[in-house]
Amino acid sequence: MATAFALDTARPAMDPDEEAAFLDAIDKWVQKEVRPVVMKHDHDDTWPAELVAQMQEMGLFGATIGQEYGGLGLPAVTYAKIVAHISSYWMAITGIFNSHLIMACAVERFGTPAQKMKWLPKFATGEIRGGLALTEPNAGTDLQAIRTTAVRDGDDYVINGTKTWISNGIQGSCFALLVKTDPKADPRYKGMSMMIAPKGPGFTVGKKFDKLGYHAIDSAELIFEDYRIPADNLIGGVEGQGFFQATGGLELGRINVAARGVGLAEGSLRLATEYAQLRQTMGKPIAEHQAIQLYLGEMVTRARAARLLTFDAAETYDRGERCDMQAGMAKYFASEAAVENSQTAMRIFGGYSYSKEYEIERFYRDSMLMCIGEGTNEMQRMIIAKGWLKENRT
Ligand SMILES: Cc1cc2nc3c(=O)[nH]c(=O)nc-3n(C[C@H](O)[C@H](O)[C@H](O)COP(=O)(O)OP(=O)(O)OC[C@H]3O[C@@H](n4cnc5c(N)ncnc54)[C@H](O)[C@@H]3O)c2cc1C
Repeated sequence: MATAFALDTARPAMDPDEEAAFLDAIDKWVQKEVRPVVMKHDHDDTWPAELVAQMQEMGLFGATIGQEYGGLGLPAVTYAKIVAHISSYWMAITGIFNSHLIMACAVERFGTPAQKMKWLPKFATGEIRGGLALTEPNAGTDLQAIRTTAVRDGDDYVINGTKTWISNGIQGSCFALLVKTDPKADPRYKGMSMMIAPKGPGFTVGKKFDKLGYHAIDSAELIFEDYRIPADNLIGGVEGQGFFQATGGLELGRINVAARGVGLAEGSLRLATEYAQLRQTMGKPIAEHQAIQLYLGEMVTRARAARLLTFDAAETYDRGERCDMQAGMAKYFASEAAVENSQTAMRIFGGYSYSKEYEIERFYRDSMLMCIGEGTNEMQRMIIAKGWLKENRT
């Protein structure tokens, strides 16, 4: 059932010709600019400044931001197609604009008119880029356990605490920051608020994480020590809405992670399909051995099912309906499909899967993150079950 809160997400579908032209431009960029540099940036874990500038030029930092604020105003379906396509070559780079767009989504859906006018045009051009800062050393899944506090002091808030694992933490300049404005509130979520937090005095970056995969995009600790921001930066202007705002924005986040999973599953399939037709054993391509065909059959099916679930969730979102359950199913299934397809592709590549000269090992390293980010898959299954039980009360 649509609610007033959910209606804000409604977007008409893009004209099919326009969408095809846009996706074609994205593909040309991926083939010409991304593919030649992906292995170097991934292996060296370096910031792809040239690609970020090109993404900015293409408008990707404003992809889902409304046109009235200078964004492209893309519906979730088109956005998911873009993310899936880029991810089928290099998933990590989509994190650079996606984390930023989740921050923008929080402001666009829950911000005051003045906040939208002030921040969204700069987010849309990529002049200000950033991400979402929820997780803390002691609180990931259990967001209500966060300890970062914001204390009102005249026209300001004074913020103290530490966030961890924050994507774009080093390269970004502004974050949607989840804090406690009333640490004693019971239930705990009533004491939580979201702030627009640009970097400034009292806001420093701690360690950069050395990660298994998801290279090139930085994941860092953010430290707040008597960091002062104007009270006007409280998203929505009312305290106590932060938990709802953080979890509301995650619907689009989950569709995005699902789309990345689709891309990783399809990219693994593409690499395995090419390799299986080139590699010969016993006098014929391994694609002609039944064992490899069984693998390919599973991979094609998983990739297709992941795609269908993801676009089902995105279409629901674009209709302006709540889609916790659909987004949860898409995120859960597509991320597991990414892990399984990349592992199966590793088997098809045999010993060469273990070499960094081949790309498949990157898909293997990158895919596991999809099961963790935007709510772990353990939580997704519980969200799905709760939605299902609500619809099926006996
Ligand atoms: C590369 C990377 C990038 C990230 N980027 C960001 C970012 O930009 N912003 C941000 O805020 N965070 C970010 N995160 C953090 C991420 O969202 C958390 O790691 C995630 O939410 C899980 O939290 P946790 O690591 O504290 O695990 P925990 O919450 O400690 O969970 C550990 C295990 O217990 C399970 N579990 C926990 N509670 C329950 C329960 N109630 N019932 C059943 N099972 C449960 C979990 O599913 C998991 O299997 C990032 C993480 C990584 C690795």
